[in-house]
Amino acid sequence: MALVGVLALQGDFEAHARVLAGLGAQAQVVREPADLDRLDALVIPGGESTTMTLGIEREGLAEPLRDLVRAGTPTLGTCAGLIMLDRDHLDVLDIRARRNAFGRQVSSFEEELELPLGGERSERVRAVFIRAPWVEEHGGEVEVLASVGERPVAVRQEDVLAVAFHTEITGEDRLHRWLLERAAARADAPGATTGTAATRELA
Ligand code: GLN
Repeated sequence: MALVGVLALQGDFEAHARVLAGLGAQAQVVREPADLDRLDALVIPGGESTTMTLGIEREGLAEPLRDLVRAGTPTLGTCAGLIMLDRDHLDVLDIRARRNAFGRQVSSFEEELELPLGGERSERVRAVFIRAPWVEEHGGEVEVLASVGERPVAVRQEDVLAVAFHTEITGEDRLHRWLLERAAARADAPGATTGTAATRELA
């Protein structure tokens, strides 16, 4: 069973934990560095990025989170989670996010988006934007998966997927399926040393 950390300092971590449980994964609530041990994947939920940043600093989570993602742990960030991954925050994704980019007046809207999540697959998902950011700038390694108008709202760099919207609140599970598939692929790769079920049994 994959062990997936869900950052739970603030925000809608419970919705993510429910989606993961529905897919047969074990959600590990992350509130302090020790909670990051042996994770196969990581989710940074939506919420309020300033509050989340303060919590990450207070708990000494910045460095261990950065190390975990840089080590290649498949990671999903949604909304405020996208902001946390950007250059100005954890700096594990080569993007700069603009907060509340769609304007505070148009604070929420929904849109059907086509998301090419690898291979032949392209998923049509119902995306819920709540005071959402967009991707203002990104480096060459970053693939834009979906945009609203000209503005990228779903991006991927290797096994880090960041979306400006929420899918977890409607029970949509395809982003989490992608995350678990990446985690499984990584565990199967030759030389995989961390987080696999086998390693856990030996530990
Ligand atoms: N507006 C929030 C922020 O800037 C993000 C909103 C969300 O996660 N739904 O932190």
